[in-house]
Amino acid sequence: MIKTRFAPSPTGTLHIGNIRTAVLNWMFTRQQGGEFWLRLDDTDSERSTEEFAAGIVEDLAWLGLEPDGQVRQSDRFALYEQRFQELRAAGRVYPCYESAQELDLRRKVLLGRGLPPIYDRAALCLTDEDRAAFEAKGITPHWRFKLDQSTPLVFDDMIRGPQRFDPALLSDPVIRRADGSWLYMLPSVIDDIDMGITHVVRGEDHVTNTALQLQMFAAMDAPAPQFAHAALLTGEEGKLSKRLGSLGVLHFRETGIEPLAVTALLARLGTSDPVIAVTDMAALVAAFAFDHFGRAPARFDEAELRALNARILHLMPFDTVAHRLPDTMDERAWAAIRPNIETVADAADWWAVVRIGPEDAAPDPADHAYLAEAATIAAGIDWSTDPWHALTSQLKESSGRKGKALFLPLRRALTGRDHGPDMAALLPLIDQADAVARLRAGLAD
Ligand code: GLU
Repeated sequence: MIKTRFAPSPTGTLHIGNIRTAVLNWMFTRQQGGEFWLRLDDTDSERSTEEFAAGIVEDLAWLGLEPDGQVRQSDRFALYEQRFQELRAAGRVYPCYESAQELDLRRKVLLGRGLPPIYDRAALCLTDEDRAAFEAKGITPHWRFKLDQSTPLVFDDMIRGPQRFDPALLSDPVIRRADGSWLYMLPSVIDDIDMGITHVVRGEDHVTNTALQLQMFAAMDAPAPQFAHAALLTGEEGKLSKRLGSLGVLHFRETGIEPLAVTALLARLGTSDPVIAVTDMAALVAAFAFDHFGRAPARFDEAELRALNARILHLMPFDTVAHRLPDTMDERAWAAIRPNIETVADAADWWAVVRIGPEDAAPDPADHAYLAEAATIAAGIDWSTDPWHALTSQLKESSGRKGKALFLPLRRALTGRDHGPDMAALLPLIDQADAVARLRAGLAD
């Protein structure tokens, strides 16, 4: 069975980049009939908070990406310790005593000589006495995972294709700090093994981590999962932008963006498939394929999100949205108003226009006689079947007007606006007596 995980750190709120990672994991898993889990990577106890953790859970729920299960790394330290001791006994992790400044200096020297800044493994040459001497000075070690430099790091990425890294060009990764706390690398692998994760889907900033982690899977006698690394998102200006880092669910909610617009856009960004308006995710899930994703960064454009949001609302069934509309607004009203909105809140505005009408009427004096005529006709027609057609066809004949001159004064008098929903759909929603009063409003007696 397919099992995936979305593994954000609760050190902040979800942003568009990690929401996309969640969407890809969720879609692939739903398509394959597997399990999608949330793993809170909260090993950094200083920066992780309960508020952020709760926020991530809420955001996923709002997006409709509810996980099938949830774990948090801070509950799993005992397991990490156990695996760590096993790796230590097997000689795959080793203690290092260099200070950050020392390491920095060594890196600079190497770079200055035009060499790759790889850790020189000096700590592997320490004797028991050397280590004892450090400890006697109160220096506790940080720990590195020892790469097997004879085995090339290869994997077949579901998006990027065959990947190959030379371990001799990589530093042994630090996996644990001197204070005993964990860095991301090893716990992630321990969890992926323990949870039975079959597919790891994440951003391409993790490609090198994957290469290193492959050896951790092997060192713990576990098969590695399959990997898919999605190209990163860029902002409107075409490069990684700060703005994207702060763009999250709160902003979407505040600006009237539907969760479906977010997930439907992210489902297709960076793929060869078109962005389409949908009423649910089913068709997108069915068509999802990692090999449709390109390797070039995908451009996220808020204007595209807003446009898709509107197109999605124009398709949205009344039942889906009814609980968010004014109580008095029925299916017919939604059908009339829906084509003209960009957010659900716009529907309430239009409904107020229908129910209350323009605030103050000041019709063009050149239209006074015409509107008076319109009011007389409106008072006499059968309102139950297509009153707009009845009104305009009679007016056309009696006034000789056509086109804009025929329609616009009526629209203005009835709604107070120059544009909006189709009047043929809107007028039956306005009470007949009200409509007559609106046509008469502001006319000289
Ligand atoms: N906590 C890591 C991150 O947010 C998880 C990476 C992974 O999916 O393994 O980048």
